[in-house]
Amino acid sequence: MQHLSTHNFVNDFTEAFDGDQSGDPEPRQTPGVLYSRVLPSPVREPKLLAWTTDLAAELGISDPDEKDLNILGGNAVNPTMKPYAACYAGHQFGNWAGQLGDGRAITLGEWPLANGETWELQLKGAGLTPYSRRADGRAVLRSSVREYLMSEAMHHLGVPTTRALSLVATGDQVRRDMFYDGRPAPEPGAIVMRAAPSFLRFGNFEMLSARKEYDHLQQLVDWTIEKFYPELTGTDKTLQWFKKVMESTATMVVEWLRVGFVHGVMNTDNMSILGLTIDYGPFSFLDAYDLNFSPNTTDHPGRRYAYGKQHSIAYWNLTCLANAISPLFEDPKELISTVEGFGPVFYEKFYAMKAAKLGLDQVLAEEIQLIDDLENLLAEIQPDMTIFYQLMAELPEDLTDTIGINAHFEPSFYYSLTAPQQELLHKNIIVYQERMAKNNSSRSISNAEMKRNNPRFILRNYLLYEAIQELEKGDDQLFKKLQKALQTPYSDEHDEFFVLRPQWANEQPGSATLSCSS
Ligand code: AMP
Ligand code: MG
Repeated sequence: MQHLSTHNFVNDFTEAFDGDQSGDPEPRQTPGVLYSRVLPSPVREPKLLAWTTDLAAELGISDPDEKDLNILGGNAVNPTMKPYAACYAGHQFGNWAGQLGDGRAITLGEWPLANGETWELQLKGAGLTPYSRRADGRAVLRSSVREYLMSEAMHHLGVPTTRALSLVATGDQVRRDMFYDGRPAPEPGAIVMRAAPSFLRFGNFEMLSARKEYDHLQQLVDWTIEKFYPELTGTDKTLQWFKKVMESTATMVVEWLRVGFVHGVMNTDNMSILGLTIDYGPFSFLDAYDLNFSPNTTDHPGRRYAYGKQHSIAYWNLTCLANAISPLFEDPKELISTVEGFGPVFYEKFYAMKAAKLGLDQVLAEEIQLIDDLENLLAEIQPDMTIFYQLMAELPEDLTDTIGINAHFEPSFYYSLTAPQQELLHKNIIVYQERMAKNNSSRSISNAEMKRNNPRFILRNYLLYEAIQELEKGDDQLFKKLQKALQTPYSDEHDEFFVLRPQWANEQPGSATLSCSS
């Protein structure tokens, strides 16, 4: 175990690429470079609110002492760090947005692991960078708590994600217009230390392509392959790499759909090149199973980023990436046919995931029909997704009558079903019971498999909202409880949270709806 303040960091990225070395945080366009060196801006009084012991142990990082805390708060750097903000671009809500970049994230350096890998350690909310545009480079406590807890919740659910090592209150106030109603108010500031093998996004590649810096683009692709996909060495390695990115992106979205996660801002600058869930903003888990649910108020006119559209947006984003790298191909025909093959890649993973959630031991035409019918049923009756699947895993083998089935699933309903809805539920469950009887494994083995694939505890937005309200008043009890519960989301140890979303949370801004203001 080594301390953040004394261990030797490596700086593969800054050493490999052209960067702006001036250290000047003045917002500007930075053509010709992949990053700009910039230091975190000091804060008044850093206070450690949370530290992720399991991640620290995995990475071999010692519990923070006073000197480490100064690093976590942006008041000091280790002399072996070469802090920088990355320059990237992106498509936001379907439109080309040009240069974006790390507006408030500063990568301090890469932490070397014993196995030769490195992990980027990055502060989010550490002050101005050349990419802050008109904003302040800071983050508020509420969004930092959400990112801190949710990235760890996703990790423990088994969803590919960036991680969060620490949450620090800065002691400074940040002004935010949370509801975009022209009434900005001061809020407590905070900084999260994020960790991932890389925070590279589709947008890093898009930027170099848009600027026609094709040498840089080739260099970034080669570097990414060598560092993260060293097994790819053939002459068609760029194409093979794109296939890997497509696969990992499809896997990530399938995992989101499995646990009911809605990202909320799937812009191409928020798409990790490693297929990790990245940039936690106005995200939400589904409560009611509403395919059209989008937690992000900025997304509400079109609901582009709704739960049920995430796979098609992933496809759209992959076409942006394919477009960006196409100048590296003499003939992009195969690249185009690869990206056009997203559908089958996604759906194979999707149906395998749904079958596992339902305890089905194979996925042939019969199962696909059953899964599709059940999807339509859920979209029609909109039960609580998490509770409904738990009840599926607890469905008695011999339960076949309409009233009994309705009563069994009742705890997952946000309203009483109409008679035709009860009939529809009954019909689907009968088909399911008949199909389950044909499984090769016993019902108890199938049920155990279902329990492994269906979370029982999810970090619902209203819980986050309550924890943040309390934390802002200095009470961290609920925060601590949630931090513990999210570590074992498949167990029944936290059944005090195994309830429907309460009525008050339906309309509560900051719980039911969120803005990008953070
Ligand atoms: P997001 O929608 O949060 O992914 O952010 C889009 C872009 O805006 C990214 O380039 C962010 O770095 C930048 N950004 C968001 N909030 C701030 C802020 N408070 N200060 C500076 N830049 C920001
Ligand atoms: Mg972002």
